[in-house]
Amino acid sequence: MSKMKKLCVYCGSSAGGQPDYALAARQLARAMVRQNIDLVYGGASVGIMGEIADNVLEEGGNVIGIIPKDLFVKEVAHTGLTELREVASMHERKLLMAELSDGFIALPGGFGTIEEILEIITWSQLGIHQKPCGLLNVCHYYDKLINFLDHAVSEHFIKKIHRSIVLVEECPEILLEKFEAYNTPEAVKWLGRNSI
Ligand code: AMP
Repeated sequence: MSKMKKLCVYCGSSAGGQPDYALAARQLARAMVRQNIDLVYGGASVGIMGEIADNVLEEGGNVIGIIPKDLFVKEVAHTGLTELREVASMHERKLLMAELSDGFIALPGGFGTIEEILEIITWSQLGIHQKPCGLLNVCHYYDKLINFLDHAVSEHFIKKIHRSIVLVEECPEILLEKFEAYNTPEAVKWLGRNSI
């Protein structure tokens, strides 16, 4: 059984251009429930977000949605979750998602998804948390971002040791195995305190 109790999944509020994205959300949902891992996510009923929440629930798992009160129209919020927490702002939402979760996965998504996963990776680099962070690289969706991270390493803006914070896998089960085995690299940048 997994030592992780809750995983945060960042993902698109759109469904994306191919059915494989939703399929990957279903596969991740199944793998999480099989290992008794609850889902923490943005609380919406739409796109890949809705897909992963629906599938965790259908498989008999628990879903905690965290949604900013006034930012999203009411219809977007998922009404069937185990728990829907309303918070005052995006910043509060991201902090609560980070505090509740034992690891962070990005499925395919747009600006919101990319911003959320890069922020939590940055917090790991700063030593704010020691939890695993990964990209589920469905249909090579994140190849260009991964190439860019490697470019930033060659250009000396990201240290190799910090690049290793970003776990990448195409298969949900293998990504979860990597999460289980994950140890934070020793060299955190500047800060050393735990605050999450
Ligand atoms: P995007 O990738 O731009 O579609 O944004 C998805 C990410 O941003 C999710 O992980 C959410 O946390 C947040 N987000 C964006 N749109 C919504 C929405 N309509 N309802 C709830 N959360 C959203």
